[in-house]
Amino acid sequence: MRPDPDILSEANRARQYKSYRAISISEGFLSIMSKEFIYLLPDMQWKEIIKNTAPKIRDGLRTIVDESGGDCVNVFYESLLQHKYAAQFLDKKMIEDRLRVDLLLWMKSLFSVQEEDIDALCDFQRKVGAVHAKLEIPTHLVVYGLYTIKQRLFDCIVKFFPEQDDRLTAISYVSSMTDFSLKFISQSYDTDLRKKIESDEAFRMVSLGQDLNYEKEIQKTTFFDWCTHALFCLCENEVYKVTKLTESQFGLWMSHKGQALFKGTNEYSLIKDKIRQIDLLVEGMQDGSVDTMVLTADLKKNVSEFNFLINRAFHSIESIQNGLDPLTKMLNRRFLDTVIQNEISFSIANDKKFSLVMLDIDHFKNINDSRGHLVGDEVLRFVADIIMKSLRANDFVFRYGGEEFLIVLTEASSEEARKCAERIRTDVAATPIFLSDNDKVSVTLSGGVSTFDEQTRTKVIINQADQALYQAKRQGRNRIVIFK
Ligand code: GH3
Ligand code: MG
Ligand code: MG
Repeated sequence: MRPDPDILSEANRARQYKSYRAISISEGFLSIMSKEFIYLLPDMQWKEIIKNTAPKIRDGLRTIVDESGGDCVNVFYESLLQHKYAAQFLDKKMIEDRLRVDLLLWMKSLFSVQEEDIDALCDFQRKVGAVHAKLEIPTHLVVYGLYTIKQRLFDCIVKFFPEQDDRLTAISYVSSMTDFSLKFISQSYDTDLRKKIESDEAFRMVSLGQDLNYEKEIQKTTFFDWCTHALFCLCENEVYKVTKLTESQFGLWMSHKGQALFKGTNEYSLIKDKIRQIDLLVEGMQDGSVDTMVLTADLKKNVSEFNFLINRAFHSIESIQNGLDPLTKMLNRRFLDTVIQNEISFSIANDKKFSLVMLDIDHFKNINDSRGHLVGDEVLRFVADIIMKSLRANDFVFRYGGEEFLIVLTEASSEEARKCAERIRTDVAATPIFLSDNDKVSVTLSGGVSTFDEQTRTKVIINQADQALYQAKRQGRNRIVIFK
């Protein structure tokens, strides 16, 4: 795949635009996308499409929209409202008051535009995208809405243009215009939605209002308080006085602040499940279907489990928030895509290579199984230290999975990356790890190397390193393999 036109250098673009102009002028309408067209910036591509479409087609479409635009708008909302999911974003009053007019305006702007108005047209699409992001209207609904409009316009085109060629050109023009509009709409939608997500992240911290460690201890205490209250009621034979955990201070905190902080984490779902289970027991006990002993035994078991889950939940957001993995102090995966995307742009602009090394500890599960998780953690920290000491200041290293590490070696060829990975591998294999109980263990690493060569995208290049790692494991472990 060719590099994204957005990340080509200015000089390249100017050169390509010139050669493109020469070809497009001599060859006429761009019915088939030429190579040169692909290299233009999207707004220039859009401009060329408008410019290269005969005035009679564009005039015809303007007339169609003037006459049938209202009809298209009706079909658009009618079909969207059939979908329950879409209906939650669109209330009928808002459609009548604003959205109908806005949609018609959008259609008119799209089909009465002249090539010289391209900047204003692009800006308008971006605004539409920003409004969608604000209302959180998902892109798939917009795509579906555009589909209904296009179908309606195609019907009108067949009636309006008697000539088959004109019909085809008009249909192709409508498709291009809506596709480009969607490109700009979704681009600004993505940016605005990202801003919203970032402000949600900031909200997480603000909603907490206190420091994380303090809040964690408080929540462990409030859970313990509820247990004491429940046990006290049971001792006093006042079962009916036991409040539900959901309604306790702990339960309320979890439903509101906990939800803002931990939503989406595995620990949060487990905590919510446990709260539900305990409340079922409380209900059962109060209606006599569950013996009080069952709740007592359950609480005993749950105190340590809740403490464990609360610790884990807080731990997970701490590491997400500062971008570092708490155990190894390596970067966590939060910024991985951004780092690789930056390196891809840098490599294209500067004609340099960069490489990835994916490392995985061999038979790590055996260490956990035979010596326990704490020793496993010590080994992880030890290997992480060796890796971090072996790298240059301009490299990035991520804890990619449990015992997997991903290194981004900037400005490094595949041979340089292999040498670096080999150095780490031999270092780890040759160094015994002295444990806190005075015992020692040794581990080995397997690794896969992939190198950016202008053909790859983030996921592909990671996948190639992963495939090479898989080969290293298959070939017997304790070795480095380069992706071929
Ligand atoms: P292979 O050589 O094929 O890589 O075998 P392996 O045993 O290293 O790989 P496997 O994927 O079977 O096991 C990885 C283990 O890593 C399983 C999991 O319990 C452990 N693990 C993941 N994260 C952590 C952690 O943070 N601490 C500890 N102690 N263990 C972890
Ligand atoms: Mg492993
Ligand atoms: Mg693994």
